[in-house]
Amino acid sequence: MVSEFQFIENLRSKYSLDKIGDDCAVLPKDQKTDLLLTADLLIEDIDFRLEWTIPEFLGHKALAVSLSDIAAMGGKPTWAMLSLGVPKNLWKTDFIDRFYVGWFDLANEFGVELVGGDISRSPDKLFIDSIVGGEVAKGKAIRRSGAKPGDKIYATGALGGAAGGLKLLEGGFEYIDLGGSPTEDAILGQLYPSPQLEIANLLLNLNLATAMIDISDGLSSDLEHICRASSVGAKINASKVPVDECLLHFFPPEVCLEMALNGGEDFELLFTVDQNNISSLKSIDAVCIGEVTEKTGVMELISDGKSRKLLPKGYRHF
Ligand code: ADP
Ligand code: MG
Repeated sequence: MVSEFQFIENLRSKYSLDKIGDDCAVLPKDQKTDLLLTADLLIEDIDFRLEWTIPEFLGHKALAVSLSDIAAMGGKPTWAMLSLGVPKNLWKTDFIDRFYVGWFDLANEFGVELVGGDISRSPDKLFIDSIVGGEVAKGKAIRRSGAKPGDKIYATGALGGAAGGLKLLEGGFEYIDLGGSPTEDAILGQLYPSPQLEIANLLLNLNLATAMIDISDGLSSDLEHICRASSVGAKINASKVPVDECLLHFFPPEVCLEMALNGGEDFELLFTVDQNNISSLKSIDAVCIGEVTEKTGVMELISDGKSRKLLPKGYRHF
């Protein structure tokens, strides 16, 4: 069975599609601006579970995942279309109204306007199709393909929290009001992620990132996307990976590292910068976790002075 990534790659070459493969499509808008476009599909019981979340959080997350793709290009989101497939039993409740409250809270924070969408009845599960458009200065979108050997690799924020939150939800923890506890931090990481648009904007203005992606599938898989698109390899220093501290309350250190490397949905940013420019990154809340190498397609993890292969073990649908 082909993976979803191979499927997209096949589609791209079979039909000569040169605009797919990055976090957003970059389309010409006018002389000064490029348009960014991204689509995300969220399906009940695959991408979310209704019994684990609340409608406002789900509305927030449905938009946050797309805003994260705009952030991954260094862009600014401007408008959105939202289409829903809703089962009848849900339609009869206040779920969808509350879903839009969460969606609009986030949209208003970043000045995103809802300009359309569609509603259909679905047999028994909720489907959410989110499309977001944004803008970036012409030719400045930060793609996955610009990393060069010798560049340093950076990650924003903390990693693994969303994967830890998922484990806790699977283990029976519930989001009620957990009062700022580590449990709440982890669960909110999974149910209520924040898109890193501010850091993306700072990075774009600095004009230093050579490649960027958002960490949606997991650090190892998303790093592989950069390596593949840039025809490079990468070396990651295990002790530098910013493991989310809330995980240490629940899991042994090696499991926490595993979650930070392979857990998805933290929606932090992973980017590369020429080693001669890293002093200019001081204002950016990100840590250097490794460097780009010439070994095309080879990812290594350095731990206690030893090197081992880092395999892309992030989330896959197929
Ligand atoms: P992300 O995880 O950042 O949302 P995806 O892995 O879903 O990105 O998609 C990677 C790239 O493949 C994107 O450029 C996306 O637009 C494209 N893509 C995904 N699915 C399809 C599809 N069914 N048809 C065309 N392009 C697709
Ligand atoms: Mg992405």
